[in-house]
Amino acid sequence: MRIAIVGGGLGGLTLARVLHRHGLEAMVYEREASRSARSQGGTLDLHPESGQHALAEAGLTARFRSQARPEGEEHRILDPAGRMLVHHRPEPGTFTGRPEIDRSALRDLLLDALPGGAVAWGHQVVAATPRASGGWELTFEGGRRAGCDLLVGADGARSVVRSLLTGTAPSPVATLVELIVSDVDRRHPELARLVGPGNLWCVGVNQILAAQRAGDGSLRVGISLPAEDHRELSELFEGWDPGVTALVTAADGPATVRRIEALPIGARWDHRPGITLVGDAAHLMPPVGEGANQAMLDGAELANHLAAGIADPDAAVRAYEEGMFARIGPVAEMSARVQAMMLSPTAAEDIVRFFTPATT
Ligand SMILES: Cc1cc2nc3c(=O)[nH]c(=O)nc-3n(C[C@H](O)[C@H](O)[C@H](O)COP(=O)(O)OP(=O)(O)OC[C@H]3O[C@@H](n4cnc5c(N)ncnc54)[C@H](O)[C@@H]3O)c2cc1C
Repeated sequence: MRIAIVGGGLGGLTLARVLHRHGLEAMVYEREASRSARSQGGTLDLHPESGQHALAEAGLTARFRSQARPEGEEHRILDPAGRMLVHHRPEPGTFTGRPEIDRSALRDLLLDALPGGAVAWGHQVVAATPRASGGWELTFEGGRRAGCDLLVGADGARSVVRSLLTGTAPSPVATLVELIVSDVDRRHPELARLVGPGNLWCVGVNQILAAQRAGDGSLRVGISLPAEDHRELSELFEGWDPGVTALVTAADGPATVRRIEALPIGARWDHRPGITLVGDAAHLMPPVGEGANQAMLDGAELANHLAAGIADPDAAVRAYEEGMFARIGPVAEMSARVQAMMLSPTAAEDIVRFFTPATT
């Protein structure tokens, strides 16, 4: 059976790696020209029951631990006056929680564990058409073609493959303004101290200023706003503590503005033989810490179903889809709730309550 995975992100690569461990080969078609063509973004915390579990299925736990930063789990929540509302510190040196790892390190770890030639770089799928004999014919930008028996869309938020299964499209949930402060220990030690080894969120009314320590010594700064908020950067922080807004003024270059989108909660599709989706292509959610974890778990679960049921791949894909829809429903609901809470007028009190363990 020829398996084509469209997209070499975390979901697609986890799928390819776990298939490979089971002795099943797959071809990953990735539109980027090479593994270093684009910066992969900030860091991710991998959860034991999803991202870390998927890495265990991929046989990569030891390599993950050698690259992860458990101390990166530390987080601080401030109000706009700079007062600390929550300060969470993980147990030093343990991997019991949700250690952080740089996205590029995680992607490299998966890429290095695949056989040479498993990823076809510079292959952007522009169309997929069903073949009369079953399976799919893929067309790539530039006109090249390839066939497959099973097509897996792991092509992220703006998936091309998704449209072969459902007409449901993502809609905007927030605007994210991103900035980088590089070489922070040397250039801005006061900001390094403010953020610490992990994440900082400064929670205002309908807006959050966040900063995250990356493994390369930079800070990734993000300002989350409601989707309909089109104010300029200079209008956002009136009355905020200058020690906090220095995260914005110290940034290296111009800001990047991104539209953050999500699929509706409970989005699903009717099963169609020979095709399925993993990760953001299947269930794009607001970015509150689940998307990559769930994408990796999708990849591992689909691979395990296919390996266990290779005599009937269609039944294996159906079983994966039903399990995935059932798992994602509550996660998508929680993610939407957290996203709404973070950008609400009462976000600070709500978030403190969220992070404070209930006493009975
Ligand atoms: C600001 C932000 C912060 C986030 N923070 C977290 C977090 O802390 N924790 C967490 O778990 N999740 C987080 N997420 C979500 C997470 O990034 C995604 O859920 C995750 O990357 C999804 O993985 P994926 O493999 O499905 O898709 P992607 O990582 O998007 O990978 C898709 C791949 O497909 C390729 N591709 C796309 N179209 C084509 C095509 N037509 N042909 C060939 N290749 C194609 C792309 O180049 C890409 O390499 C965050 C998201 C954002 C936006």
